[in-house]
Amino acid sequence: MRFGSGLLDIKFLGGAGEVGRSGFLLEGHRRILLDYGIKIDSVTEYPSDAGRVDACILSHAHLDHSGFTPSLFGHAFPAMFATEPTMALAELLIEDSIKVHKKKHMNPHFHRNDLKSMLNRYTPCEYGKQYEFGEYSISMHDAGHICGSAISLIENLGNGRKLAYTGDLKVEKQLLEWGAEAVKSDILITESTYALKDHPAREEMMKRFVDEIREVVDNGGIALVPVFAVGRAQEMLALMNRFGLIQRTFFDGMAKAATEIVDMYPDYVKNVDLLKGAINKAMWVENPRNRKHALEGGSVILTTSGMLNGGPVLDYITRLNKNSKIFLTGYQAEGTNGRRLMEGKPLEIDGREFRVHNPFSVYDFSAHAGKTDLHKFIRESSPEKVICVHGSDESTAALVADLKGEGFDAVAPKVGETVSVEF
Ligand SMILES: [Zn+2]
Ligand SMILES: [Zn+2]
Repeated sequence: MRFGSGLLDIKFLGGAGEVGRSGFLLEGHRRILLDYGIKIDSVTEYPSDAGRVDACILSHAHLDHSGFTPSLFGHAFPAMFATEPTMALAELLIEDSIKVHKKKHMNPHFHRNDLKSMLNRYTPCEYGKQYEFGEYSISMHDAGHICGSAISLIENLGNGRKLAYTGDLKVEKQLLEWGAEAVKSDILITESTYALKDHPAREEMMKRFVDEIREVVDNGGIALVPVFAVGRAQEMLALMNRFGLIQRTFFDGMAKAATEIVDMYPDYVKNVDLLKGAINKAMWVENPRNRKHALEGGSVILTTSGMLNGGPVLDYITRLNKNSKIFLTGYQAEGTNGRRLMEGKPLEIDGREFRVHNPFSVYDFSAHAGKTDLHKFIRESSPEKVICVHGSDESTAALVADLKGEGFDAVAPKVGETVSVEF
């Protein structure tokens, strides 16, 4: 045996008992950080300081996982592991986040140069390949959540012990995602976003969604679909293509840049032809004339931001004709315009109140595993210890209780706590 076993301390810097600012620090032979994200509310919340780290492994591009990673490169040069699409999409989202912070006169707490130095230095990882890092081997496995998303697996080469971290996880197939398969581990850090509920059957829901959209479009209305730039935007494009609505679809906002990046990594896209066809057939809004055309009616408009907190969607929503309808397809966080719409409250646009008179529908196109899939994934990973993160207190506690009932050792730490495991 080259290296012995020992205790590994896992410190929860953020993203424990909450969704947002994920950051989990492994302190063993080396200091390895799993994700380092931010939580965007009216003010940005950051994870606790990670201090000096030897390496950071990034699960996927979303800002609640990636948003604070550049800060690690301010005065140090840790190793960085991520898939290529993750890094390219993270660059887009982090650049945008810097702009948003500046616009709101907030300090992002790192510089654009830190982001550049991260991009120049990282190790591009392929799914299933092993990367040695000192006494550890690191590998990434498809997490099925968004393009490039990964389950990180760290193996102690001395004793063969394995620790897996799911990042955000989707087991069920999506149009552009194969879905995650279980990765065997001894210690599993798992997300718990939907530990309390199952999602509706997707295929059937897609048909209802498309029928409702078709009705709006056939009546001369606009089906306005706010989308998150990374993940949902590409999935919705593919969906419009599959159900024959793509020639009536306009595509606008940061979703365009994200889609161009995803298009560069066909190996990471299931049904790549469905996406490529959609990219070719949809009308990309490049100028005010295109936007006017989109607003003439009889159209589907896919645009950012997904929670109606910025982007062209706020312009469109004030200019809809009376036959139009809004389709919310993702989670709407507390305090966002999307949540206000759901609660029947006026939106806040540029400091003014705006009351939406058009109807809206809500569809659950979640890219997270529902309760049943989450349990199945954990059982098949057959860990001896499960650590439940990335979920509300209620959600993580319910998952712990369920897992204990099945005979697992399970915990739901809070931010600031440390869990020690044999590794
Ligand atoms: Zn995510
Ligand atoms: Zn997340």
